[in-house]
Amino acid sequence: MASHVVGYPRMGPKRELKFALESFWDGKSNSEDLEKVAADLRSSIWKQMADAGIKYIPSNTFSYYDQLLDTTAMLGAVPPRYGWNGGEIGFDVYFPMARGNASVPAMEMTKWFDTNYHYIVPELGPDVKFSYASHKAVSEYKEAKSLGIDTVPVLVGPVSFLLLSKAAKGVEKSFPLLSLIEKILPVYKEVIAELKAAGANWIQFDEPTLVKDLDSHQLQAFSHAYSELESSLSGLNVLIETYFADVPAEAFKTVTSLKCVTALGFDLVRGSKNLDLIKSGFPSEKYLFAGVVDGRNIWANDLASSLSTLQALENLVGKDKLVVSTSCSLLHTAVDLVNETKLDEEIKSWLAFAAQKLVEVNALAKALAGQKDEAVFSANAAARTSRKSSPRVTNGAVQKAAAALKGSDHRRATTVSARLEAQQKKLSLPVLPTTTIGSFPQTLELRKVRREYKANKISEEDYVKYITEEISKVVKLQEDLDIDVLVHGEPERNDMVEYFGEQLSGFAFTANGWVQSYGSRCVKPPIIYGDVSRPKPMTVFWSSRAQSMSKRPMKGMLTGPVTILNWSFVRDDQPRFETCYQIALAIKDEVEDLEKAGINVIQIDEAALREGLPLRKSEEAFYLNWAVHSFRITNCGVQDTTQIHTHMCYSNFNDIIHSIIDMDADVITIENSRSDEKLLSVFREGVKYGAGIGPGVYDIHSPRIPSTEEIADRISKMLAVLDTNILWVNPDCGLKTRKYTEVKPALSNMVAAAKLLRDQL
Ligand code: GLN
Ligand code: ZN
Repeated sequence: MASHVVGYPRMGPKRELKFALESFWDGKSNSEDLEKVAADLRSSIWKQMADAGIKYIPSNTFSYYDQLLDTTAMLGAVPPRYGWNGGEIGFDVYFPMARGNASVPAMEMTKWFDTNYHYIVPELGPDVKFSYASHKAVSEYKEAKSLGIDTVPVLVGPVSFLLLSKAAKGVEKSFPLLSLIEKILPVYKEVIAELKAAGANWIQFDEPTLVKDLDSHQLQAFSHAYSELESSLSGLNVLIETYFADVPAEAFKTVTSLKCVTALGFDLVRGSKNLDLIKSGFPSEKYLFAGVVDGRNIWANDLASSLSTLQALENLVGKDKLVVSTSCSLLHTAVDLVNETKLDEEIKSWLAFAAQKLVEVNALAKALAGQKDEAVFSANAAARTSRKSSPRVTNGAVQKAAAALKGSDHRRATTVSARLEAQQKKLSLPVLPTTTIGSFPQTLELRKVRREYKANKISEEDYVKYITEEISKVVKLQEDLDIDVLVHGEPERNDMVEYFGEQLSGFAFTANGWVQSYGSRCVKPPIIYGDVSRPKPMTVFWSSRAQSMSKRPMKGMLTGPVTILNWSFVRDDQPRFETCYQIALAIKDEVEDLEKAGINVIQIDEAALREGLPLRKSEEAFYLNWAVHSFRITNCGVQDTTQIHTHMCYSNFNDIIHSIIDMDADVITIENSRSDEKLLSVFREGVKYGAGIGPGVYDIHSPRIPSTEEIADRISKMLAVLDTNILWVNPDCGLKTRKYTEVKPALSNMVAAAKLLRDQL
């Protein structure tokens, strides 16, 4: 019975690793304490997989921070600024690379494909001296072996490692990173030799870049690298794993013809075309690791349907050559449903977290081997039926309204310039109007009050009183600072998606459904299980209360549909865009209620719009089209005099600028301060942008207080490229994580800078 798991969450069912890491970083525990927690987690995971009957159990999928950083350490590719002098890389070098310290900044972090996981980007140049500097893969293999478990050690493959790297500072951007392959392969050979000597029978190379748009030169690198490794690998079974999408036909040809490779893993959940590729020709001598259990979501597998897929594959590749697997590492799903004691029982029966997915993989493998556990299959079928027919999932009215949207366009009736004119008549703002992105500092006390209210420890009345006072402080502060368009500060919100999810129907929340985002940081995405609707207004109470405290315009503050979608676990029983349209309709109701309540400026945050971009160019247009359409749906019904803002948390929007313009917002505020030139270059190149725009004038991720001169200088640079009458002045993002001692002087300097420039106009 052949079953396999690509990788497993490291954090532990109750985020044990997070707490151990943070306590170590704070100096509250020592390295042995941390290592002990890590070893316990590893051994319990291996045992859990062994108990679940998994045959090919991965090792080296644990990490203290990130698997790419582990590979950088394995190769000794430490940037010089960390002062490493050779020898085995320890925490004293590893963590500064991950997080920086008082004297050196961290390495760059970026999104891992289209997941919400972030990896540490290797920085490479022609002079890097690679050496075998972290024996982690081998020691984890041995550690499992000493527990009686023979594992499949997992390495990030050499080609993906290079393709996911960037040229180090000072090295030409065009430096051919792939040319370093000759230098890293000797280290890979050493690792392989040690693994063999330790008794490994299998080795897994993760080469997920194979699902991207690669050119022939890049594909050639795979053929070259694996033929170079061929003699070292002889005697080992070699698995190449791909995931997150299907493998383009050319890449499929390349990997299937690698001689030293004995097994190939494909994502059969997201990789919709993989099945056809396999059918069109799979090498007879190789194993197929069929990723049928979804590693990116939390739904119980459709076991019957997976089984029939597997049976069809078995006919193609042969009984002894098929291995049941997960679509990708289970790192991207929640850990264990067992801990969800408060979740509704019916909804719970529809779900499978990592621990339950192990059981699914094994149940499928057993069934394939002729030992089908009828009880497991029929319980699964019953849960699927209950999910399909549950009235909690289907809301006819919502389905109908969302279906009616398709194919039609939704836009405000007038042009942005006509609207801006109408809005200006109503709002009478100065040139270079100042504003903030929404949240103000969240103190420990504020978080405590919210927690206690949720736990019914304080009364509704006391809670409302407390939040009202908090809002009034924030309003007063902004008036004192002389900011033009105010915000209420979002003190009632814990998280910009959760806050809305909790008030919309069709959403469920877990107690421990954490997923690693980066390092020790985890997020707990809501689960969208049913048709989404808005039973009653969500923000009108607080927004109108805040507006009543000031004569200045108060921004209503909403999270946009695309961001809610992209930061949740979404339904797998209807296309993403359909769910997005439903959320858009709910937000539309809220926008219109805010307008009715006298809110003239409404910000609809789309922080995560860019994140949802598919991995392949050919699919981008389709996504951007429905995502932008969803945004427009939310506000197509407001009057010209209502000003719609949106906010985005990234600056590299050059490639999607036309979609951003197509959102047709009146004002967009956007992160910018860490990359001025990049953002402005789009406009310098002549892109016509008639709406208001507020590129952030200072970085809110740092405690540093920017001076008036510095901000004024930034604004003048922007004015050189953008029209005076469309430029707004605002920070990069929300101020939630900052302290008042930082926010007050920073905003005061920001307003002073805006005034300085107004005087010069
Ligand atoms: N309005 C939100 C805030 O200010 C926006 C946060 C974000 O863009 N991530 O916190
Ligand atoms: Zn932001």
